[in-house]
Amino acid sequence: ATGGEEHAFSAEVGRLLDLVVHALYSEREIFLRELVANAADATDRRRFEALTDAAQALPEGAKVRIEPDKDARRLTISDDGAGMSKDELARNLGTIARSGTRAFGEELAKHKPEERSGLIGQFGVGFYAAFMVAEHVDVVSRRAGTDEAWRWSSDGKGSFTLSPATREQPGTDIILYMKEDADEFLDAWRLEAIVRKWADHIAWPITIHSDGEDKAANAGTALWRKPRSEVTEEQLTEFYRHVSHNFDTPWATLHWHAEGTIDFTALLFIPGSRPFEFGEQVRESRVRLHVRRMFITDDAALLPPWLRFVQGVVDTEDLPLNVSREMLQATPVLQRIRKAVTNRVLNELRNRAKDAESYAGFWDNFGPVVKEGIWDDAEYRTDLAGLARFPSTEEGWTTLADYVARMKDGQEAIYYLTGDNPDTLPASAQLEGFKARGIEVLLLTDPVDSFWPDRLGTFEGKSLRSVSQSHADLEKFEAPLSEGEKAELDTLLPALKDALGDAVSEVRGSTRLVSSAVVLASAGQGPDLQLQRLLRRSGQ
Ligand code: ADP
Ligand code: MG
Repeated sequence: ATGGEEHAFSAEVGRLLDLVVHALYSEREIFLRELVANAADATDRRRFEALTDAAQALPEGAKVRIEPDKDARRLTISDDGAGMSKDELARNLGTIARSGTRAFGEELAKHKPEERSGLIGQFGVGFYAAFMVAEHVDVVSRRAGTDEAWRWSSDGKGSFTLSPATREQPGTDIILYMKEDADEFLDAWRLEAIVRKWADHIAWPITIHSDGEDKAANAGTALWRKPRSEVTEEQLTEFYRHVSHNFDTPWATLHWHAEGTIDFTALLFIPGSRPFEFGEQVRESRVRLHVRRMFITDDAALLPPWLRFVQGVVDTEDLPLNVSREMLQATPVLQRIRKAVTNRVLNELRNRAKDAESYAGFWDNFGPVVKEGIWDDAEYRTDLAGLARFPSTEEGWTTLADYVARMKDGQEAIYYLTGDNPDTLPASAQLEGFKARGIEVLLLTDPVDSFWPDRLGTFEGKSLRSVSQSHADLEKFEAPLSEGEKAELDTLLPALKDALGDAVSEVRGSTRLVSSAVVLASAGQGPDLQLQRLLRRSGQ
């Protein structure tokens, strides 16, 4: 297209385009997966928005249509989805919504070529994959509920133009003018193979135009509704990668059908690795809610925040197809599903914890997230404390229950030490008195560790106590000072207090230390030292 308003890509997009086009070249075919996924997402969106805005109603037979034209060397992917307004075209296809290009580039460099294509899904940059195969891309779109259409047009080199266009119905056409060496993607057979491989489970019909007609290309089956015996591992993994935007193999796959008071089918996955930039901003579960196979929403918070790493689908019979957002918030059905699904995942974790080595991998990836639940979910606090694993001064990694079983005669509390650095914490002076007496201490280095022990309070009747507040306890395990030592301290301590003045509230003698001369301790009941540092850092 010529003319129209010219807009520069944000600098980030410019660099990103370069990265996508070059780093993913060995797997060019995934451009189609990304464009078809976008088309299906837009159709889902329109269906959902139509529930509250009749003007957006989907046409009968909505689908995703792929049309290759060998003579014109052009490939068009069309949908009946929500479409984009002029502003949305500029925003969605001209800036980067989620993560920065720098971070994306760094991640690309860390992964093997065959793993890279998954990253573009994670970073929300799938559309730009079109420029791997096309020298020029036009997007003609009409927002559902409006009668204006716009054309976005770019060669992926620095700028795009926007100009008025026409489109009979709402929806979007992505028109690719193919590169010389991308002819294979104009072949209907090749396209069909790609759709089968990457998009078979998409619920909307996907057709490929060949020999004068549109031919169905995807099975469109809801994988989770099939009996487990009819589903292969490969299909499960591929589906997991589709819903999660991850590219690893799941650590756990849970597939079950619940009947009785509540009827639903769930297919859930626990990732095998920690996705890049996982879960720091978004704390809500993204598990997808379907009603009778139809996708409804991925923000129904189907799992608590401390299970937000779980991916997958819950499909229920117990809600109407036209369920609205308001209804989702009010219905007790979701509460019941949430509870059943949460308990099921916890059971799975308990079972898998029996294999300590495998569980250690899981805990390394998601333990810090699960521990958030000990802090903020009273209902599951005790269960989660039972699932937690901690490094300890005596035992490698341990559970709280095993710690309690090993406690010394007369030991009343579970001792822990918090700090930022897992490498230096075991050498902390705070530990000396405990080590010397063979008293085990848990070493906690996640930020959330400064918060949950106080909330949990006790485990199996034993209170959790920071070593920085526990000097008094040690005295139970040691001989009192000799008369000579006492006499020395009687002159030394007042002199030290004089010298330090108000910087400390008290200077006292202790046999906690073995090789260090002094240690800073928090006064009896005050907050733990590490917590004090954190609070100070956040300005509180
Ligand atoms: P993501 O899909 O992860 O958000 P993409 O780069 O694939 O990232 O797409 C960017 C955005 O462009 C989408 O979020 C969506 O808002 C918009 N978009 C892309 N394709 C379409 C389409 N066919 N119909 C409507 N909107 C689309
Ligand atoms: Mg996308």
